[in-house]
Parts: sequence; structure tokens; C-alpha cells
Amino acid sequence: MNQCISGLCKNAGRYQTPAGWVCEEHHDPATDTSLMSFNGVKVFCATKAADRDQLGEKVTAWIKEHPSYALVDKVVTQSSDEAYHCITISLFYREAR
Ligand SMILES: [Zn+2]
Repeated sequence: MNQCISGLCKNAGRYQTPAGWVCEEHHDPATDTSLMSFNGVKVFCATKAADRDQLGEKVTAWIKEHPSYALVDKVVTQSSDEAYHCITISLFYREAR
């Protein structure tokens, strides 16, 4: 459970903002990313063990290279079969216009 980050209450966070989760009471629609729709998506994937080890760094580097992109959501998908394992990280972002 994500607690409200306002520091003013012990309510559960219901809305995700860039700073963290906030409750209904302390929710400010102006900073709410969960209500914002994304207008871009970047997909990273790795199948080799060496690639998987570096995937997190690749994602971090990409985020740093694109400071105007506000991350809205991140989805990590793992799939595997007998031959190999695959990790896919999808970043959903909103580009400031
Ligand atoms: Zn609160």
C-alpha cells in the first residue's frame, strides 16, 4: 500500500504524482500524472544475460537524456521459454509541448 506523501495524513495514496502517491484529500489535479495521458512510449528489451544486466542502466541513461519527458507509467514484462528469457521494459511518457 502506498501512503500519502503529504505528511499531513496517514491515508492511502490513491493518485500517483511525480513526487509519489497522494490521497484523495491532498490530491492536486495539476500535478497528477495518472490523469495525464501519455503521448509516447519507449520499449527496451533484452534477451541475453549481459543485456539484461545492463537494461536498468540503459533505461536510466535514456531517462536522463530526455529530461523533457515526464514518465507516466512503466511496465516490465518478463517472458521466457526453454531457449531464452526475455525482459521488456516499456516506458510511457508525456513529452512537454
Ligand atoms: Zn493525504
